[in-house]
Amino acid sequence: MLRAVGRLSKSGAKAQRRFLNLQEFQSKEILEKHGCSVQKFVVAANRKEAEEKWMSFGNHEYVVKAQILAGGRGKGKFIDGTKGIGGVYITKEKKEALDAIDEMIGKRLVTKQTTEDGVRVDKVMIAEGVDIKRETYLAVLMDRESNGPVVVASPDGGMDIEAVAEKTPDRIFKTPIDIQMGMTEAQSLKIAKELQFEGKLLGAAATEIKRLYDLFIAVDATQVEINPLVETADGRVFCVDAKMNFDDSASYRQKDIFAYETFEEHDPREVDAHQFNLNYIGMDGNIACLVNGAGLAMATMDLIKLHGGEPANFLDVGGAVTEDAVFNAVRIITSDPRVKCVLINIFGGIVNCATIANGVVNAVNKIGLKVPMVVRLEGTNVDAAKQIMKKSGLKILTANNLDEAAAKAVESLPK
Ligand code: ADP
Ligand code: MG
Repeated sequence: MLRAVGRLSKSGAKAQRRFLNLQEFQSKEILEKHGCSVQKFVVAANRKEAEEKWMSFGNHEYVVKAQILAGGRGKGKFIDGTKGIGGVYITKEKKEALDAIDEMIGKRLVTKQTTEDGVRVDKVMIAEGVDIKRETYLAVLMDRESNGPVVVASPDGGMDIEAVAEKTPDRIFKTPIDIQMGMTEAQSLKIAKELQFEGKLLGAAATEIKRLYDLFIAVDATQVEINPLVETADGRVFCVDAKMNFDDSASYRQKDIFAYETFEEHDPREVDAHQFNLNYIGMDGNIACLVNGAGLAMATMDLIKLHGGEPANFLDVGGAVTEDAVFNAVRIITSDPRVKCVLINIFGGIVNCATIANGVVNAVNKIGLKVPMVVRLEGTNVDAAKQIMKKSGLKILTANNLDEAAAKAVESLPK
Protein backbone atom coordinates (compact mmCIF):
# COMPACT_ATOMS: atom_id res chain seq x y z
CA MET A 1 0.00 0.00 0.00
CA LEU A 2 2.57 2.47 1.17
CA ARG A 3 4.84 1.97 -1.75
CA ALA A 4 2.09 2.02 -4.33
CA VAL A 5 0.91 5.41 -3.22
CA GLY A 6 4.36 6.90 -3.53
CA ARG A 7 5.57 5.32 -6.72
CA LEU A 8 2.48 5.19 -8.82
CA SER A 9 1.49 8.75 -8.18
CA LYS A 10 4.69 9.68 -9.96
CA SER A 11 3.18 8.62 -13.27
CA GLY A 12 1.19 11.82 -13.00
CA ALA A 13 -1.68 10.96 -15.34
CA LYS A 14 -1.39 12.41 -18.80
CA ALA A 15 -0.43 15.79 -17.50
CA GLN A 16 2.98 16.80 -18.72
CA ARG A 17 4.22 16.69 -15.14
CA ARG A 18 4.11 14.10 -12.46
CA PHE A 19 2.84 14.78 -8.97
CA LEU A 20 5.48 16.79 -7.19
CA ASN A 21 7.47 14.60 -4.86
CA LEU A 22 9.87 16.26 -2.39
CA GLN A 23 13.02 15.19 -0.65
CA GLU A 24 12.80 14.52 3.07
CA PHE A 25 14.61 17.74 4.01
CA GLN A 26 12.24 19.80 1.87
CA SER A 27 9.22 18.09 3.43
CA LYS A 28 10.65 18.76 6.87
CA GLU A 29 11.16 22.44 6.11
CA ILE A 30 7.45 22.60 5.28
CA LEU A 31 6.52 20.66 8.43
CA GLU A 32 8.55 23.07 10.52
CA LYS A 33 6.85 26.08 8.94
CA HIS A 34 3.49 24.62 9.88
CA GLY A 35 4.42 24.07 13.50
CA CYS A 36 5.01 20.31 13.39
CA SER A 37 7.78 18.75 15.48
CA VAL A 38 10.91 17.86 13.58
CA GLN A 39 14.43 17.48 14.87
CA LYS A 40 17.06 20.06 14.09
CA PHE A 41 18.95 19.34 10.91
CA VAL A 42 21.28 20.68 8.24
CA VAL A 43 21.66 19.63 4.62
CA ALA A 44 24.96 19.27 2.77
CA ALA A 45 26.27 18.19 -0.60
CA ASN A 46 29.74 17.30 0.72
CA ARG A 47 31.86 16.99 3.83
CA LYS A 48 33.15 20.55 3.66
CA GLU A 49 29.66 22.03 3.50
CA ALA A 50 28.60 19.80 6.39
CA GLU A 51 31.53 21.03 8.48
CA GLU A 52 30.66 24.65 7.74
CA LYS A 53 27.03 24.17 8.68
CA TRP A 54 27.72 21.78 11.54
CA MET A 55 25.36 21.93 14.48
CA SER A 56 26.13 20.47 17.81
CA PHE A 57 23.11 18.54 18.90
CA GLY A 58 23.84 18.44 22.60
CA ASN A 59 24.36 14.99 24.00
CA HIS A 60 22.36 13.34 21.30
CA GLU A 61 23.46 11.32 18.36
CA TYR A 62 23.99 12.44 14.80
CA VAL A 63 21.86 10.84 12.12
CA VAL A 64 23.21 11.06 8.56
CA LYS A 65 20.46 10.42 6.00
CA ALA A 66 20.83 10.06 2.26
CA GLN A 67 18.38 12.34 0.46
CA ILE A 68 16.77 10.41 -2.36
CA LEU A 69 13.14 10.33 -3.41
CA ALA A 70 12.68 6.67 -2.53
CA GLY A 71 11.97 5.28 0.93
CA GLY A 72 13.49 2.24 2.60
CA ARG A 73 16.83 4.00 3.05
CA GLY A 74 17.46 2.61 6.51
CA LYS A 75 17.62 -0.90 5.08
CA GLY A 76 19.15 0.21 1.79
CA LYS A 77 22.62 -0.67 0.52
CA PHE A 78 25.12 1.33 -1.50
CA ILE A 79 26.54 -0.10 -4.70
CA ASP A 80 30.27 -0.54 -3.94
CA GLY A 81 29.55 0.75 -0.45
CA THR A 82 31.36 0.15 2.81
CA LYS A 83 29.91 -2.49 5.10
CA GLY A 84 27.71 -1.11 7.83
CA ILE A 85 26.74 2.08 6.02
CA GLY A 86 23.26 2.24 4.52
CA GLY A 87 21.06 5.22 3.72
CA VAL A 88 20.57 6.11 7.40
CA TYR A 89 23.65 6.14 9.63
CA ILE A 90 23.52 6.86 13.36
CA THR A 91 26.55 7.73 15.46
CA LYS A 92 27.59 9.73 18.51
CA GLU A 93 30.90 10.77 16.94
CA LYS A 94 31.23 13.82 14.71
CA LYS A 95 34.11 12.28 12.79
CA GLU A 96 32.14 9.12 12.05
CA ALA A 97 29.23 11.20 10.82
CA LEU A 98 31.54 13.15 8.49
CA ASP A 99 33.08 9.91 7.23
CA ALA A 100 29.59 8.58 6.54
CA ILE A 101 28.89 11.65 4.40
CA ASP A 102 31.95 10.83 2.28
CA GLU A 103 30.67 7.26 1.98
CA MET A 104 27.22 8.32 0.78
CA ILE A 105 27.72 11.26 -1.57
CA GLY A 106 28.11 10.28 -5.20
CA LYS A 107 27.25 6.62 -4.59
CA ARG A 108 24.10 4.87 -5.70
CA LEU A 109 21.72 3.71 -3.00
CA VAL A 110 19.55 0.67 -3.66
CA THR A 111 16.41 0.25 -1.57
CA LYS A 112 13.30 -1.85 -2.00
CA GLN A 113 11.67 1.17 -3.61
CA THR A 114 14.35 1.77 -6.25
CA THR A 115 15.46 -0.35 -9.19
CA GLU A 116 18.59 -2.43 -8.73
CA ASP A 117 20.61 0.41 -10.32
CA GLY A 118 19.76 2.52 -7.29
CA VAL A 119 19.66 6.32 -7.09
CA ARG A 120 22.72 8.54 -6.80
CA VAL A 121 22.96 10.45 -3.55
CA ASP A 122 23.75 14.13 -4.09
CA LYS A 123 22.76 15.48 -0.70
CA VAL A 124 22.61 14.27 2.86
CA MET A 125 20.74 15.49 5.90
CA ILE A 126 22.53 15.53 9.23
CA ALA A 127 19.83 15.41 11.87
CA GLU A 128 19.71 15.47 15.61
CA GLY A 129 19.25 11.93 16.89
CA VAL A 130 16.36 11.38 19.24
CA ASP A 131 16.03 8.67 21.82
CA ILE A 132 13.21 6.66 20.31
CA LYS A 133 10.95 4.67 22.59
CA ARG A 134 8.30 3.73 20.01
CA GLU A 135 7.80 4.18 16.28
CA THR A 136 4.29 4.71 14.91
CA TYR A 137 2.93 5.34 11.41
CA LEU A 138 0.74 8.23 10.31
CA ALA A 139 -0.34 9.26 6.84
CA VAL A 140 -2.94 11.62 5.48
CA LEU A 141 -4.01 10.93 1.93
CA MET A 142 -6.73 11.62 -0.57
CA ASP A 143 -8.82 8.51 -0.72
CA ARG A 144 -10.96 7.53 -3.64
CA GLU A 145 -13.21 5.26 -1.58
CA SER A 146 -14.26 7.86 0.96
CA ASN A 147 -14.04 10.64 -1.60
CA GLY A 148 -11.87 12.85 0.56
CA PRO A 149 -8.98 12.87 3.00
CA VAL A 150 -8.34 9.85 5.17
CA VAL A 151 -5.87 9.37 8.01
CA VAL A 152 -4.08 6.04 8.05
CA ALA A 153 -2.51 5.21 11.40
CA SER A 154 -0.71 2.28 12.95
CA PRO A 155 1.02 1.81 16.30
CA ASP A 156 3.52 -0.44 14.47
CA GLY A 157 5.38 2.17 12.44
CA GLY A 158 8.98 2.11 11.30
CA MET A 159 10.84 0.22 8.66
CA ASP A 160 8.47 -2.76 8.39
CA ILE A 161 5.18 -1.00 7.79
CA GLU A 162 4.65 -2.86 4.50
CA ALA A 163 4.81 -6.16 6.39
CA VAL A 164 2.32 -4.83 8.96
CA ALA A 165 -0.09 -3.89 6.16
CA GLU A 166 0.24 -7.39 4.75
CA LYS A 167 0.32 -9.56 7.86
CA THR A 168 -1.71 -7.68 10.45
CA PRO A 169 -4.01 -5.34 8.53
CA ASP A 170 -6.16 -5.02 11.69
CA ARG A 171 -3.28 -2.98 13.18
CA ILE A 172 -3.86 -0.29 10.53
CA PHE A 173 -6.62 2.18 11.31
CA LYS A 174 -8.36 4.46 8.85
CA THR A 175 -10.27 7.60 9.73
CA PRO A 176 -12.01 9.48 6.94
CA ILE A 177 -12.16 13.23 7.58
CA ASP A 178 -14.91 15.54 6.42
CA ILE A 179 -13.04 18.06 4.34
CA GLN A 180 -15.58 20.82 5.11
CA MET A 181 -15.49 20.32 8.88
CA GLY A 182 -11.83 19.50 9.22
CA MET A 183 -10.45 17.16 11.85
CA THR A 184 -12.39 17.28 15.12
CA GLU A 185 -10.76 17.04 18.54
CA ALA A 186 -12.51 13.73 19.09
CA GLN A 187 -10.98 12.39 15.89
CA SER A 188 -7.46 13.52 16.69
CA LEU A 189 -7.73 11.94 20.15
CA LYS A 190 -9.11 8.70 18.72
CA ILE A 191 -6.18 8.49 16.30
CA ALA A 192 -3.67 9.30 19.06
CA LYS A 193 -5.17 6.43 21.09
CA GLU A 194 -4.98 4.09 18.11
CA LEU A 195 -1.29 5.00 17.95
CA GLN A 196 -1.15 3.99 21.65
CA PHE A 197 -0.08 7.33 23.04
CA GLU A 198 -1.00 7.55 26.70
CA GLY A 199 -1.20 9.92 29.64
CA LYS A 200 0.12 13.38 29.05
CA LEU A 201 1.48 12.36 25.67
CA LEU A 202 -2.03 11.70 24.39
CA GLY A 203 -2.81 15.40 24.09
CA ALA A 204 0.59 16.21 22.55
CA ALA A 205 0.14 13.45 19.94
CA ALA A 206 -3.42 14.58 19.15
CA THR A 207 -2.16 18.14 18.60
CA GLU A 208 0.59 16.88 16.30
CA ILE A 209 -1.90 14.78 14.32
CA LYS A 210 -4.24 17.75 13.92
CA ARG A 211 -1.34 19.93 12.74
CA LEU A 212 -0.35 17.33 10.17
CA TYR A 213 -3.91 17.18 8.87
CA ASP A 214 -4.19 20.97 8.68
CA LEU A 215 -0.87 21.10 6.85
CA PHE A 216 -2.09 18.48 4.36
CA ILE A 217 -5.06 20.73 3.49
CA ALA A 218 -3.11 24.01 3.54
CA VAL A 219 -0.49 22.85 1.04
CA ASP A 220 -2.80 20.90 -1.33
CA ALA A 221 -0.96 17.67 -0.63
CA THR A 222 -2.11 14.35 -2.04
CA GLN A 223 -0.07 12.55 0.59
CA VAL A 224 1.72 13.38 3.83
CA GLU A 225 3.36 10.29 5.27
CA ILE A 226 5.21 10.31 8.58
CA ASN A 227 7.01 7.04 9.16
CA PRO A 228 8.04 6.95 11.88
CA LEU A 229 6.10 9.35 14.04
CA VAL A 230 7.93 8.63 17.27
CA GLU A 231 7.56 8.81 21.00
CA THR A 232 10.86 9.64 22.68
CA ALA A 233 12.11 8.38 26.02
CA ASP A 234 11.80 11.92 27.43
CA GLY A 235 8.13 12.12 26.45
CA ARG A 236 8.07 14.04 23.18
CA VAL A 237 6.52 13.38 19.78
CA PHE A 238 8.59 13.82 16.59
CA CYS A 239 8.11 13.43 12.86
CA VAL A 240 11.33 11.52 12.20
CA ASP A 241 10.78 10.78 8.51
CA ALA A 242 8.50 12.63 6.11
CA LYS A 243 7.30 12.11 2.59
CA MET A 244 4.95 14.44 0.78
CA ASN A 245 3.30 14.57 -2.59
CA PHE A 246 1.34 17.46 -4.00
CA ASP A 247 -1.47 17.93 -6.45
CA ASP A 248 -0.02 19.38 -9.66
CA SER A 249 -3.24 21.18 -10.46
CA ALA A 250 -2.69 23.31 -7.34
CA SER A 251 0.72 24.55 -8.49
CA TYR A 252 -0.74 27.97 -9.32
CA ARG A 253 -1.53 28.63 -5.66
CA GLN A 254 1.38 26.73 -4.08
CA LYS A 255 4.19 28.61 -5.76
CA ASP A 256 6.59 28.28 -2.80
CA ILE A 257 6.24 24.53 -2.76
CA PHE A 258 6.45 24.01 -6.51
CA ALA A 259 9.59 26.16 -6.54
CA TYR A 260 11.24 23.17 -4.82
CA GLU A 261 10.97 21.02 -7.91
CA THR A 262 14.30 19.85 -9.22
CA PHE A 263 15.26 17.16 -11.65
CA GLU A 264 18.90 16.74 -10.77
CA GLU A 265 18.35 13.75 -8.52
CA HIS A 266 16.14 11.73 -10.78
CA ASP A 267 16.80 8.72 -12.91
CA PRO A 268 18.59 10.17 -15.97
CA ARG A 269 16.06 8.44 -18.22
CA GLU A 270 13.27 10.22 -16.39
CA VAL A 271 14.96 13.55 -17.07
CA ASP A 272 15.65 12.56 -20.67
CA ALA A 273 11.95 11.68 -21.12
CA HIS A 274 10.79 14.88 -19.47
CA GLN A 275 12.50 16.98 -22.15
CA PHE A 276 10.12 15.47 -24.68
CA ASN A 277 7.07 15.85 -22.42
CA LEU A 278 7.09 12.15 -21.65
CA ASN A 279 6.67 10.55 -18.22
CA TYR A 280 9.13 7.73 -17.56
CA ILE A 281 9.13 5.40 -14.57
CA GLY A 282 11.82 2.77 -14.11
CA MET A 283 10.96 -0.60 -12.57
CA ASP A 284 12.64 -3.95 -11.94
CA GLY A 285 11.26 -6.32 -14.58
CA ASN A 286 12.11 -6.91 -18.23
CA ILE A 287 9.08 -5.81 -20.29
CA ALA A 288 9.29 -2.21 -21.50
CA CYS A 289 5.90 -0.50 -21.77
CA LEU A 290 4.90 2.42 -23.91
CA VAL A 291 1.38 3.59 -23.12
CA ASN A 292 -0.80 6.68 -23.12
CA GLY A 293 -2.33 7.71 -19.83
CA ALA A 294 -1.74 6.64 -16.23
CA GLY A 295 -4.89 4.51 -16.11
CA LEU A 296 -3.79 2.46 -19.08
CA ALA A 297 -0.33 2.18 -17.50
CA MET A 298 -1.83 0.58 -14.37
CA ALA A 299 -4.10 -1.74 -16.36
CA THR A 300 -1.14 -2.77 -18.53
CA MET A 301 0.98 -3.47 -15.47
CA ASP A 302 -1.77 -5.55 -13.86
CA LEU A 303 -2.20 -7.67 -16.99
CA ILE A 304 1.53 -8.19 -17.43
CA LYS A 305 1.70 -9.42 -13.85
CA LEU A 306 -1.38 -11.58 -14.29
CA HIS A 307 0.37 -13.33 -17.16
CA GLY A 308 3.46 -13.86 -15.03
CA GLY A 309 5.64 -11.01 -16.33
CA GLU A 310 7.21 -7.93 -14.74
CA PRO A 311 7.43 -4.43 -16.27
CA ALA A 312 10.91 -2.94 -16.77
CA ASN A 313 9.55 0.56 -17.11
CA PHE A 314 6.61 2.64 -18.14
CA LEU A 315 6.67 5.46 -20.54
CA ASP A 316 3.51 7.50 -20.73
CA VAL A 317 3.40 9.53 -23.95
CA GLY A 318 0.33 11.49 -22.83
CA GLY A 319 -2.18 12.97 -25.24
CA ALA A 320 -0.45 15.63 -27.32
CA VAL A 321 2.29 13.38 -28.63
CA THR A 322 4.33 13.96 -31.81
CA GLU A 323 6.17 11.46 -34.01
CA ASP A 324 9.43 12.82 -32.70
CA ALA A 325 8.36 12.22 -29.10
CA VAL A 326 7.36 8.64 -29.98
CA PHE A 327 10.77 8.15 -31.56
CA ASN A 328 12.42 9.31 -28.33
CA ALA A 329 10.06 7.23 -26.24
CA VAL A 330 11.11 4.05 -28.06
CA ARG A 331 14.77 5.09 -27.82
CA ILE A 332 14.53 5.64 -24.04
CA ILE A 333 12.64 2.47 -23.13
CA THR A 334 14.86 0.25 -25.27
CA SER A 335 18.11 1.73 -23.92
CA ASP A 336 17.79 -0.38 -20.77
CA PRO A 337 19.85 -3.57 -21.18
CA ARG A 338 17.40 -5.46 -18.98
CA VAL A 339 14.58 -5.00 -21.46
CA LYS A 340 13.76 -8.30 -23.17
CA CYS A 341 10.50 -7.30 -24.84
CA VAL A 342 8.69 -4.07 -25.74
CA LEU A 343 4.95 -3.75 -25.30
CA ILE A 344 3.20 -0.81 -26.90
CA ASN A 345 -0.33 -0.30 -25.72
CA ILE A 346 -2.15 2.76 -27.03
CA PHE A 347 -5.78 3.63 -26.77
CA GLY A 348 -6.12 6.44 -29.26
CA GLY A 349 -8.71 8.94 -28.19
CA ILE A 350 -6.82 12.18 -28.34
CA VAL A 351 -3.76 10.33 -29.59
CA ASN A 352 -3.68 9.53 -33.27
CA CYS A 353 -2.63 5.89 -33.76
CA ALA A 354 -0.97 6.75 -37.10
CA THR A 355 1.35 9.19 -35.31
CA ILE A 356 2.35 6.43 -32.92
CA ALA A 357 2.85 3.94 -35.76
CA ASN A 358 5.04 6.36 -37.74
CA GLY A 359 7.13 7.19 -34.67
CA VAL A 360 7.60 3.53 -33.80
CA VAL A 361 8.53 2.51 -37.36
CA ASN A 362 11.03 5.39 -37.61
CA ALA A 363 12.61 4.53 -34.30
CA VAL A 364 12.94 0.83 -35.10
CA ASN A 365 14.41 1.62 -38.52
CA LYS A 366 16.97 3.99 -37.04
CA ILE A 367 17.87 2.33 -33.74
CA GLY A 368 17.16 -1.26 -34.66
CA LEU A 369 15.39 -3.63 -32.34
CA LYS A 370 17.11 -6.51 -30.59
CA VAL A 371 14.06 -7.77 -28.71
CA PRO A 372 10.51 -8.70 -29.71
CA MET A 373 7.95 -5.89 -29.93
CA VAL A 374 4.22 -6.38 -29.36
CA VAL A 375 1.89 -3.59 -30.45
CA ARG A 376 -1.73 -3.10 -29.56
CA LEU A 377 -3.37 -0.01 -31.02
CA GLU A 378 -7.01 0.93 -30.69
CA GLY A 379 -9.01 4.04 -31.54
CA THR A 380 -8.46 7.05 -33.77
CA ASN A 381 -6.94 6.18 -37.13
CA VAL A 382 -6.17 2.62 -36.14
CA ASP A 383 -6.56 1.21 -39.68
CA ALA A 384 -4.04 3.65 -41.12
CA ALA A 385 -1.70 2.79 -38.25
CA LYS A 386 -1.96 -0.93 -38.98
CA GLN A 387 -1.18 -0.25 -42.66
CA ILE A 388 1.91 1.77 -41.72
CA MET A 389 3.26 -1.04 -39.59
CA LYS A 390 2.47 -3.72 -42.17
CA LYS A 391 4.12 -1.74 -44.98
CA SER A 392 7.25 -1.21 -42.88
CA GLY A 393 8.03 -4.92 -43.19
CA LEU A 394 9.32 -4.86 -39.62
CA LYS A 395 8.89 -7.88 -37.40
CA ILE A 396 6.33 -6.44 -35.06
CA LEU A 397 3.81 -8.69 -33.31
CA THR A 398 0.32 -7.28 -33.17
CA ALA A 399 -2.51 -7.92 -30.74
CA ASN A 400 -6.19 -7.14 -30.92
CA ASN A 401 -6.74 -6.40 -27.27
CA LEU A 402 -4.85 -5.62 -24.12
CA ASP A 403 -5.07 -9.08 -22.61
CA GLU A 404 -3.73 -10.71 -25.78
CA ALA A 405 -0.94 -8.11 -25.97
CA ALA A 406 0.19 -8.77 -22.41
CA ALA A 407 0.07 -12.54 -22.97
CA LYS A 408 2.11 -12.27 -26.18
CA ALA A 409 4.67 -10.03 -24.48
CA VAL A 410 5.21 -12.48 -21.64
CA GLU A 411 5.31 -15.41 -24.08
CA SER A 412 7.99 -13.71 -26.18
CA LEU A 413 10.43 -13.50 -23.26
CA PRO A 414 13.48 -15.78 -23.34
CA LYS A 415 12.70 -18.89 -21.28
P1 ADP B 1 13.60 5.25 5.55
O1 ADP B 1 12.13 5.22 5.80
O2 ADP B 1 13.94 5.76 4.18
O3 ADP B 1 14.26 3.95 5.87
P2 ADP B 1 13.81 6.83 8.00
O4 ADP B 1 14.06 8.27 8.08
O5 ADP B 1 12.45 6.37 8.36
O6 ADP B 1 14.24 6.33 6.56
O7 ADP B 1 14.87 6.15 8.94
C1 ADP B 1 14.89 4.75 9.18
C2 ADP B 1 14.98 4.51 10.69
O8 ADP B 1 16.15 5.14 11.24
C3 ADP B 1 13.81 5.08 11.48
O9 ADP B 1 12.71 4.20 11.48
C4 ADP B 1 14.44 5.28 12.84
O10 ADP B 1 14.43 4.08 13.57
C5 ADP B 1 15.88 5.65 12.54
N1 ADP B 1 16.08 7.12 12.55
C6 ADP B 1 15.92 7.95 11.50
N2 ADP B 1 16.13 9.23 11.86
C7 ADP B 1 16.40 9.22 13.17
C8 ADP B 1 16.70 10.22 14.15
N3 ADP B 1 16.75 11.51 13.84
N4 ADP B 1 16.93 9.83 15.42
C9 ADP B 1 16.90 8.54 15.76
N5 ADP B 1 16.61 7.55 14.89
C10 ADP B 1 16.37 7.87 13.61
MG1 MG C 1 10.81 6.04 7.04
